[in-house]
Amino acid sequence: MNKPANVSALLKLHRNIVSGIAREAADGRILDCVCPSDGLSFAAIPRSGKADVDAAVAAAREAFETGPWGRMNAIERGRLLVKLGEAILRNHEELAQFEAQDCGKPLKQARADMTAAARYFEFYGTAADKVHGETIPFLNGYTIAIVRDPHGVTGHIVPWNYPAQIFGRSVAASLACGNTSVVKPAEDACLSLIRITELALEVGFPPGVLNIVTGLGAEAGAALAGHPGIDFISFTGSPETGTLIQQAAARNHIGCTLELGGKSPQVIFADADLEAALPVLINAIIQNGGQTCSAGSRILIEKSAYEVLVPALAARFAKIAVGTHADDRDMGAMINRKQQQRVAMFTARAREEGVPVLAEAALPADLPSGGFYAAPMLFGPVPRANSLAMDEVFGPVLSVIPFEDEADAVALANGTPYGLVAGIWTRDARRSMRMARAMRCGQVFVNGYGAGGGIELPFGGVKKSGHGREKGFEALYEFSASKTIVINHG
Ligand code: NAD
Repeated sequence: MNKPANVSALLKLHRNIVSGIAREAADGRILDCVCPSDGLSFAAIPRSGKADVDAAVAAAREAFETGPWGRMNAIERGRLLVKLGEAILRNHEELAQFEAQDCGKPLKQARADMTAAARYFEFYGTAADKVHGETIPFLNGYTIAIVRDPHGVTGHIVPWNYPAQIFGRSVAASLACGNTSVVKPAEDACLSLIRITELALEVGFPPGVLNIVTGLGAEAGAALAGHPGIDFISFTGSPETGTLIQQAAARNHIGCTLELGGKSPQVIFADADLEAALPVLINAIIQNGGQTCSAGSRILIEKSAYEVLVPALAARFAKIAVGTHADDRDMGAMINRKQQQRVAMFTARAREEGVPVLAEAALPADLPSGGFYAAPMLFGPVPRANSLAMDEVFGPVLSVIPFEDEADAVALANGTPYGLVAGIWTRDARRSMRMARAMRCGQVFVNGYGAGGGIELPFGGVKKSGHGREKGFEALYEFSASKTIVINHG
């Protein structure tokens, strides 16, 4: 949507994959793929509409109801998923190059994303035959079995910040449960997902099990979310679109998981190992240019440590290096012009309101002039009610806020509309547990923040951060439903 209208017939057109066949949009429309590093178009994708989504949902339905997938046992299904993980690793560099160019993210980040995407298929592939049921003691003469059934056809609406990782975490879990899937990637970043879907066919996935349809959110996305032929929907993106997804799911009486971002705090007590914390605090906001749902975008620091930590943080922050995806520096461009302007709006408003700037990393002179760059900025002390303390910027903007004591820290940490992740830094073990238990969010890290992609660790939010859990074994419960079988055998 935010791309220049310079669609060119010369660009390589990547295609949808429906029922195992590469297809253009039914009406032939296309969208440019724009590289955020320089703002130039480098490929094209189908601008799919309702007819394309109808065909993808029908293909997934057929694969679920009558294809080999439904009759395949969990062991074989799991093996296919593991094979796809291995294929992602074999094609790691090609996929990372797609992701880096599509998202403008440094290559090292794109490479790490592909390793994590592969790991999702390995993890859920080896979990497919471990979705165990239960028995329940009941009346004499009865045996009760609880088994888990797939939902059927699952829809996946994927954002642009970590396309391959978010595809991996929701699609692998869904397929492991025996569902078939239709994926609508973000219009800003699709290419790695089209390639992974091709790899799925190459390693032996039956046609129709995994379908991908590209296009705009308001067109292909809305058509998928509201489709009467889907049985469950997984969405990651903005709270505003999340509301539309939940309304569409409600109209069709289906379940959904919503992962809608956050304003995650890192709470630092004066007794913490500040040296160890410093690089983690910076990475938690700079990774992916701050365009990360779990970005640690608020540093809450005990007053007595403010003067020790903040100058050291500012000194390191000012040295963050920004570059193109190929430069492979600390941080790349924002995904598109709209996101770049959104970040600029937040920082300009904070300056106008007099919020002190503690550090601003200079943008190098060698950046391509058409790229969507934003300078990393550190603000503090940020007033508690200020937008920078409450709202998700989704960019390289870090807010520092001092607190008085533990009770104040809890109130501040929980005092935004969001609740996704929190970090607690202290050497006091009892306090770390009290704090972790007091956080209103889905994940808490103690003396660390984020780790290895967290494939095994259930993840999701409360409040405006959404609901439902992905990652880990919990995702297998989201993508399946229990069925109670009551046997009266006398
Ligand atoms: P978005 O929520 O509009 O887009 C996310 C996905 O939803 C994309 O695939 C998009 O095509 C699709 N979509 C958009 N409108 C839709 C609709 N009406 N029906 C169905 N699908 C639809 O997000 P955005 O506009 O790309 O970014 C705006 C803001 O959202 C960002 O600034 C950021 O704050 C937030 N965001 C959060 C995450 C996250 O990981 N939580 C990811 C991306 C964006």
